[in-house]
Amino acid sequence: DAQLGPAHPRWIRVNTLKSTVDEQLDTTFKGFEVVPTAQEVMASALTGKRVLCLDSHVPNLIAASPGVDFTKTEAYKSGALILQDKASCFPAYLLDPRPEDGDIIDACSAPGNKTTHLAGILHERGFAPNQHIIAFEKDKHRAKTLDKMIRTAGTDKHTLTHPGRDFLQADPHAPEFRAVGALLLDPSCSGSGIVGRDDTPEFHLPSTTTTTTTPDNKPLKRKRPAAPTPVQPQTIMIDDAGTETHLPTPQALQTRLTALATFQLAILLHAFAFPAAKKVTYSTCSIHAVENEGVVFAALRSDIAKQRGWRVLGREEQVRGMREWPVRGDLRDVTERDDGEGDKVVGGGCVRAEREDGR
Ligand code: SAM
Repeated sequence: DAQLGPAHPRWIRVNTLKSTVDEQLDTTFKGFEVVPTAQEVMASALTGKRVLCLDSHVPNLIAASPGVDFTKTEAYKSGALILQDKASCFPAYLLDPRPEDGDIIDACSAPGNKTTHLAGILHERGFAPNQHIIAFEKDKHRAKTLDKMIRTAGTDKHTLTHPGRDFLQADPHAPEFRAVGALLLDPSCSGSGIVGRDDTPEFHLPSTTTTTTTPDNKPLKRKRPAAPTPVQPQTIMIDDAGTETHLPTPQALQTRLTALATFQLAILLHAFAFPAAKKVTYSTCSIHAVENEGVVFAALRSDIAKQRGWRVLGREEQVRGMREWPVRGDLRDVTERDDGEGDKVVGGGCVRAEREDGR
């Protein structure tokens, strides 16, 4: 809608297991004008022109004119193109999975955007023999969507799925996880950062805060916290058309965020316990610091983090593209933080997927 100004671009990831960017430019995107920035792609909503740009932060990612229905294309149906928001591409890319990392756990994986992205990156680098992505998904129904997605994406032979299995119940010291060198954690969250979603509903498009940490190898012991409890909405808003919207009160929202943060911290601490783990990304599609930077501070204060030497990966150590990303951690709403050096490390190491100009 021209009156609403430029729309969000349609973000599309080329699935390297099935195709290449060049091949897609010559086929699905034939006739699209290539422009240098996503801003110009957004502006194309006003002119109706078909344009695209190749993302400068994440490889194999394309921003295309909004309003084009890619779900009808052969490339989408065959799994060569995956409709995945830019923010949703940060965690797998930042985790930087490599053949020498051994098995990679995707702890909360359905519908599988990040599972298939991990596989795409490893495919380009060459999977090591017997290297797998181990994908947990607690919800059996969502696990079916995951299975469908990894089959369509051609990722199934590299992925061991655990439909209905709770990551928090997995014993990090079990032989099946002996070779797990990296974990991607994308747990359930408030979803407060999801914007401009206009594609197939089962695909999850988060705005992400991501942290990468690397540990020493030392054993650990911890307790398991409870899962978050649902909170009943308490305020009802009725618009001119008589449609009711249930809104949580600020207090109910706070209770819900605290419960979510407790669960998210449990996921992060559990990941710290895998004996061969060297790196972890933690991401949410929430804008609330309590679910993001707050969880990172709490994790760093834990015994396991101290025992095993987990730390936040500094911006300069991050993979190319991510270290150039300008929007970093926001500590303003974090009540329990370290001040001084610890603040700088967490603030600089976390990535916020807000607008590139930080607005
Ligand atoms: N990573 C997914 C993607 O990019 O397509 C999106 C993940 S979504 C934010 C979180 C998922 O984690 C949900 O499907 C939820 O059912 C699952 N989940 C929540 N708690 C879990 C647990 N303890 N173990 C395994 N899966 C869990």
